[in-house]
Amino acid sequence: MAEQKRDYYEVLGVDKNADDATIKKAYRQLAKKYHPDMNPGDKEAEAKFKEASEAYAVLSDADKKRKYDQFGHAAFDGSQGAGFDFNDMDFTSMFGDIFGDIFGGAFGGFGSRSSSGPARGKSLLAGVHISFEESIFGCEKELELTLKDECPTCKGTGAKPGTSKSTCTKCNGKGKVVYTQQSLFGMVQNVQTCPDCHGSGQIIKEKCRDCKGTGYIPKKQRIKINIPAGIDDGQRVRVPGKGEPSPNGGPRGDLLVDVVVSQNPRYQREGLNLFTTAPLSFAQAALGGEIRLNTVYGDVIYEVKPGTQTDTRIRLKGKGVPSLRSSNVVGDQYVTFVVQVPTGLNEEAKELIRQFDEATDNSLAEAAADTSEDGKSGSGHGKKKKKMFGKK
Ligand SMILES: [Zn+2]
Ligand SMILES: [Zn+2]
Repeated sequence: MAEQKRDYYEVLGVDKNADDATIKKAYRQLAKKYHPDMNPGDKEAEAKFKEASEAYAVLSDADKKRKYDQFGHAAFDGSQGAGFDFNDMDFTSMFGDIFGDIFGGAFGGFGSRSSSGPARGKSLLAGVHISFEESIFGCEKELELTLKDECPTCKGTGAKPGTSKSTCTKCNGKGKVVYTQQSLFGMVQNVQTCPDCHGSGQIIKEKCRDCKGTGYIPKKQRIKINIPAGIDDGQRVRVPGKGEPSPNGGPRGDLLVDVVVSQNPRYQREGLNLFTTAPLSFAQAALGGEIRLNTVYGDVIYEVKPGTQTDTRIRLKGKGVPSLRSSNVVGDQYVTFVVQVPTGLNEEAKELIRQFDEATDNSLAEAAADTSEDGKSGSGHGKKKKKMFGKK
């Protein structure tokens, strides 16, 4: 058989010294031309497609290419033990690379097969609600979940006590079966988990009555979940080994817990920083002084500068959210001051404000003067100058 094969370089129509990009380009062109989907029912195209795919599988792999260059087809006919088997190629990486943009998602799952050894159990998904404060400081939550537990009657074998499993006849105990993928690759074969024994290679003849042959029984469990300080809304915590059991003796899957953090109206979180606002009375803003500010770590006293404007933002260093990655890293809190305009003043307070105005920029009198001088309301600049000179 080996001597009837065409030279791989000849198949792809490339020179022996062709580089990777040239080989790939040549194969892409052939694959497009001879792809079974483009040539339904055309056996010759199918054969050419397979031939090109095989050539590409070898020439695109540095190790296989070296062996081929040295030994020719003899490198892969089995007798040399070079280990090349067309049915054993990694199609996902090979064709995903080549066809990703040609055939879109057609290759999803193609060639996917479990790596050797028992499969890991599936992951389970759960959710937990925590308060804003719990997200900052971390917390421990308990979830009650129904997990599959090993059946005590059959010790997880699924077989009725006293009976034993027998070798699966569909896969001869291998746990895998070989399928031919006609639609996409003609003769190309694909290995999948055996549907009869689900990869275990064994069939239960007499099922355990307690677990109906599954080997597991549902059991409610309380599972502790450690939620780290600094977690954000929508992040996920993994609890190893609390997922589904493996179907064939492998490790259990994980439990994935989606964390939902309640909003706190006082604090807006952005990354590791927190944003708040704080009211400043007019007197505090004008004269400065100590004020009390809330932080998630408790209140702090802050010295406001005299003449602080509204919307002034200050930073409280280290009063933000701790980093999940490093306990030494903590964000900051940014506080925006909002200067309050007094309302509901009594007559005494009003009078004081009038006096205050007279002593400062006399804005009340100026506005009155503006409206009384008909037609000259636009001359604000001149008035201000006059007033400033008058003061000196
Ligand atoms: Zn059982
Ligand atoms: Zn089987």
